[in-house]
Amino acid sequence: MTDAAVVVVGAGPVGLMAAHVLGRNGVETIILERRKPRPGQTACAHPASSGDLRSRAIGIMPPSLELLDGIGLAQEFVAAGVHAATGVVHDEKDELGRLDFRGVHRHFPFVLAIPQWRTESMLAAAIAERPKVEICYDVTVDAVVQDTEGVTLSCRDGSRYRARYAIVCDGARSTLAAAAGLSRGRTTYQARFFIADHRDLTDLADEAHLWFTPSGAVESFPLPGSLRRWIVQLPSGSALPGADDHIDLEGIVESRTRYSLDPAGRTWQSAFAPERSELGRFHQGRLLFAGDAAHTMSPIGGQGMNTGFADAELAATLVAGRLDGRLTAPDAWGYYQRARRQAGRSAARRAWAGMRVGTITGRAGSWVRGRLVSAALRLAAPLLARHFAMMSIPMRHASGRLPRRLTHHGDSHEASE
Ligand SMILES: Cc1cc2nc3c(=O)[nH]c(=O)nc-3n(C[C@H](O)[C@H](O)[C@H](O)COP(=O)(O)OP(=O)(O)OC[C@H]3O[C@@H](n4cnc5c(N)ncnc54)[C@H](O)[C@@H]3O)c2cc1C
Repeated sequence: MTDAAVVVVGAGPVGLMAAHVLGRNGVETIILERRKPRPGQTACAHPASSGDLRSRAIGIMPPSLELLDGIGLAQEFVAAGVHAATGVVHDEKDELGRLDFRGVHRHFPFVLAIPQWRTESMLAAAIAERPKVEICYDVTVDAVVQDTEGVTLSCRDGSRYRARYAIVCDGARSTLAAAAGLSRGRTTYQARFFIADHRDLTDLADEAHLWFTPSGAVESFPLPGSLRRWIVQLPSGSALPGADDHIDLEGIVESRTRYSLDPAGRTWQSAFAPERSELGRFHQGRLLFAGDAAHTMSPIGGQGMNTGFADAELAATLVAGRLDGRLTAPDAWGYYQRARRQAGRSAARRAWAGMRVGTITGRAGSWVRGRLVSAALRLAAPLLARHFAMMSIPMRHASGRLPRRLTHHGDSHEASE
């Protein structure tokens, strides 16, 4: 049996953020990750990078850059990503308006574009600088048992880990939430999307572009390494493409935007059917759920990983507060549930609304949308820029800070967990 103060389940972006915040607080932490280590890494080590090359989340918003600053990594990220400071919205013929992110934040006046695999790799590499944090790869947690003193995690390879608390970041299909008997509400939306990263031969530079057309939406974002992300809405009624299905993304992009892409220029592709889900509770005894394990939202709008980062920061700060006796369990866990559910619901509503507006098809609907979007961008562009940069999500926290009312109770009692 291996002991630590905290076990984090899952070395996705959210689990890695949680481990950094715990490490910053001097908390002995083990991260357990079911993916195999990459060649050259030992299974249980301080690795230089992790996982496969899933591009998925590419937008890091200013509030997340504040959190990365709190763990000492903002500069490295800012140097590695593309600074998207402008978003341009079009219909099939004309530009409808622009969003300017330069006014949204004093230090981070842009959305940072960087592929998720790179985010994970940089977070994992920086774990090596945290002497109290260790990552174990190729370890699948199958079960967690709780008692009055802590949690015991049993893994598929027969290993067992013991900790005072576990922060569970095992993703949207969280098997541990299901094993803990927590219910999950889920809504699947009808729209289907295909997504690919491409070698960028356009003149779009570091701007984000959205096309709202009668036959469907196209989104395009800059990426480092002269790449560009393209997301196309598939025709209504399309099934979710499988890995071997051919989707003519380049043809769709050309017909809706007039940009020609080289099909041989794809570097990564995927398809998704957006959905929204939320656990009935974000904590149970000594388990806290964070990131996609706690709640998911449509990837349109780019808020899922950012919401997860904020979950992770708060969960780890509260657990550190429990371990050093500053916080009571009811205060800490009640606050976590309220704050992160409210923030997650707000982000999920925004993601849904953005997707709803963008996916209206047909000439009449598209014409009306074009006039409304154009008016909104003319009248309220600064507000909309703050909205899309997630600056107005409720219950945001400065890194490591908790409301005073949570911390002035003095002694805490573990028995009340
Ligand atoms: C196509 C697409 C595009 C997206 N674009 C954006 C975007 O632009 N911006 C944005 O903010 N979000 C975006 N998202 C959402 C974002 O990818 C997720 O919100 C993010 O990955 C959540 O991180 P996580 O760490 O909670 O979960 P995950 O990334 O799913 O990580 C969970 C980790 O836990 C491990 N694990 C699971 N079970 C176990 C177990 N039993 N034992 C040990 N380890 C386990 C997994 O191997 C995995 O490494 C997108 C998602 C998709 C699908």
